[in-house]
Amino acid sequence: MIDAVVVGSGPNGLAAALTLARAGLKVRVYELAASIGGGTRSAELTVPGYLHDVCSAVHPMALASPFFQAFELDRRIELIVPEISYAHPLDGGRAGVAYRDLDRTAEHLGRDGAAYRALFAPVLRMLDGVTDFTQHQLLRMPRNPLAALVYGLRTLEQGTPLWNARFREDVAPAMIAGVNAHSIGRMPGLATAGAGMLLGAHAHGRGWPVPVGGSQAIADAMAADLIAHGGEIVLNTAISSLAQARADSGAKAVLLDVSAASLATIASAELPARYLRALAAFKYGNAASKVDFALSGPVPWRNPELALAPTVHLGGTRAALARSEAEVAAGIHPANPYVLMSQPSPYDTSRAPAGHQVLWTYAHVPAGSTLDMTEAVTAQIERFAPGFRDVIVARNSITADEYSRYNPNYVGGDFSAGAVTLRQLIKRPVVSPNPWRTPAKGVYLCSSSTPPGPAVHGLCGWYAAQTALKDVFSLPAPDLGV
Ligand SMILES: Cc1cc2nc3c(=O)[nH]c(=O)nc-3n(C[C@H](O)[C@H](O)[C@H](O)COP(=O)(O)OP(=O)(O)OC[C@H]3O[C@@H](n4cnc5c(N)ncnc54)[C@H](O)[C@@H]3O)c2cc1C
Repeated sequence: MIDAVVVGSGPNGLAAALTLARAGLKVRVYELAASIGGGTRSAELTVPGYLHDVCSAVHPMALASPFFQAFELDRRIELIVPEISYAHPLDGGRAGVAYRDLDRTAEHLGRDGAAYRALFAPVLRMLDGVTDFTQHQLLRMPRNPLAALVYGLRTLEQGTPLWNARFREDVAPAMIAGVNAHSIGRMPGLATAGAGMLLGAHAHGRGWPVPVGGSQAIADAMAADLIAHGGEIVLNTAISSLAQARADSGAKAVLLDVSAASLATIASAELPARYLRALAAFKYGNAASKVDFALSGPVPWRNPELALAPTVHLGGTRAALARSEAEVAAGIHPANPYVLMSQPSPYDTSRAPAGHQVLWTYAHVPAGSTLDMTEAVTAQIERFAPGFRDVIVARNSITADEYSRYNPNYVGGDFSAGAVTLRQLIKRPVVSPNPWRTPAKGVYLCSSSTPPGPAVHGLCGWYAAQTALKDVFSLPAPDLGV
């Protein structure tokens, strides 16, 4: 007898499943792939002996997410929190470095140091309130209205043409744009600025942790907890209907860690036409095209400070990044692409043979792109690290189109399972006091097509599971700690 079925073993699916299992329910997870994890898998993508993160690599939410705090992720796996959160090189060997220490960061920003400090310091002081406000659905009344106001005003500044008003030089604005660009979209824009303000503040707050053993360690810790509480995981099984999900089990609840588009297909027989129309109107965003490298040694950065940056944003000045994101939005592959890079090896030597390194990168591209970005990404790195080509042992590329086939949640290569726009942060995938609950009885959507959207935080799954526990089983949310 199974009480609840979860479809998909991404971080949200596993968060949902273990929450239900912790409440005493018998839970089964179906996963279409041959391994668990969704966007938190790690694998030998280039040559044996080099462990690469297939999707997510850096985890600002691993310590900040209320779900991972309740789950005590930091007691289950080794999360390294480097002194530097990220760096942003500019031509001529200059670079902005975001230390966890805000004052130290500001000291290196010349005439813009005070302005940068003044932008982030108030958000940092209220970071838990800001996280609580942003990491739920935006229509909920903020529990800390002052934190929401401080965050909202700064988002308004950095998300509109006012964004350069406080700065006089180019390093600090480039740093902020590099973080804002994480969520793929036109800049300045409110959605990119909102995400960037939260991530940028955490860079100086709890930090941007790197898991030892790669992102897979996060999925494995969640799966271990699920199994310890009686759950089961069935691999290599694609679910295409609710009848299939419930077959042989009598499950009263089905939680779907799938895109809004897949929800429409899987649950079409039980969803009303109006809700199906809303799912059909849900828009998907532009995409990522990834290149992983196995290296014989460190990246030969022109600016040596970058050697210890676990995350690096490439593409140049704020204006250059805005141009390149606008090109992607217009369906063009930029000649100067924004490249997000993670270099975990200085902090986690388990991922490559002694002295060697792994390097994770992706560039933003238009949705559905089939273009292999290896050469464009290599050239972008070479621009700031001359001689980079000489340390490359092997490379592997995953195009946006290949991502959409690797994981159907990534529609057209959109790893957010739905464009991150202000409208779609409110309507994700519908406007509702509880967007995780669908009109079909006992059916819940728990992927990043629901609030708070993309990233490895487990919150979509946690909120959906809490809703199902209350609606279907009249059970309270369980304790998740070690
Ligand atoms: C290249 C890339 C880089 C990223 N970098 C970061 C990063 O550094 N930090 C960060 O926080 N986030 C990052 N992300 C985003 C992050 O991975 C996602 O936001 C997150 O994984 C979403 O979790 P999820 O559980 O909603 O969905 P997913 O992780 O996508 O998991 C969904 C799972 O459901 C399975 N599934 C789907 N449909 C079915 C079906 N019909 N039947 C059975 N199984 C099904 C899929 O196979 C998959 O395993 C990145 C993503 C990509 C692609």
